[in-house]
Amino acid sequence: MPIPSTSSLYRVTPLIPHPVLSRAQGRDVQLKMETLQPAGSFKSRGVGVHCQRVAAAGARRLVTSSGGNAGMAVAVAGRTLGLAVTVVVPESTAPAVRDKLRAEGAEVHVHGRVWIEADADARGRVTAAAAYVHPFDHPDLWDGHATLVDELAQQGPRPDRVVVSVGGGGLLCGVVEGLRRNGWGDVGVVAVETEGATSLKAAVEAGQLVTLPAITSVAKTLGASRVAQAALDCTRDHPVEVITVSDAAALRACVRFADELRTLVEPSCGASLAVAYDDHPALAGAARVVVVVCGGVAVSTADIEAWRASVG
Ligand SMILES: *Cc1c(COP(=O)(O)O)cnc(C)c1O
Repeated sequence: MPIPSTSSLYRVTPLIPHPVLSRAQGRDVQLKMETLQPAGSFKSRGVGVHCQRVAAAGARRLVTSSGGNAGMAVAVAGRTLGLAVTVVVPESTAPAVRDKLRAEGAEVHVHGRVWIEADADARGRVTAAAAYVHPFDHPDLWDGHATLVDELAQQGPRPDRVVVSVGGGGLLCGVVEGLRRNGWGDVGVVAVETEGATSLKAAVEAGQLVTLPAITSVAKTLGASRVAQAALDCTRDHPVEVITVSDAAALRACVRFADELRTLVEPSCGASLAVAYDDHPALAGAARVVVVVCGGVAVSTADIEAWRASVG
């Protein structure tokens, strides 16, 4: 069977104006709707490209340890490519998440109490025919995520600022790579973390990678305790402003976005939207802003109602 092309692994997403914010702020606020990807987040891009390449190199199985959107993207990519998928998750991963992964055809194993233990087990399952897929730290992922900027270059004029959420920094690396390869190396990037998940901010301040002792943010998808070295390098080689927003601001943004755009996103994505909603100083002087609506599947209408009740 021929290996399907990347075009079936991720899709071109719309770039649409945020009508309310654009009017209120007198600037062009554009939304890159990654929530429409096959696996519900931008991860379909990088994971799709990476899995296609390991399939072409002979892998028959994909192995990962993410119970989040990366795991979902690997499960969807594996099904599309006709490869078996193993996801090892820790005991703390909710049964509903395990069910979602199984529904995509993945084999789910539960190992260890925390992610690092599940990840060690996953790495132990790697063979010549079974390839490990990292959630954020691999050049194929950045190359794939960069396609969202390739599309921006087709869809509209040069933005003054691009807003992205940061967990392990894979999306940041991809967006910076995309800006460079489209001749937009001077376009500023606003890199957003939530309080309690500030592994990039900590690395920038220390001048080297830092492992956070704990993740306390509600935005679990941003909870990489240590970013990729390449993400720290991006902040040195490109105009990147690293900022922090509160959990409450991220949740409020999710609620407003649901009401105004009729689209549900995770708090990890709400963090980027909060920068636009709160007219953050990082946007000062920008006439045209693109917010990467990174998406995420860990959200339901019940979550939106609970967040509405907790943050008004
Ligand atoms: C993975 C993910 C992030 C963080 O991306 P990194 O590449 O780890 O920085 C943010 N939001 C969503 C919805 C994600 O799936």
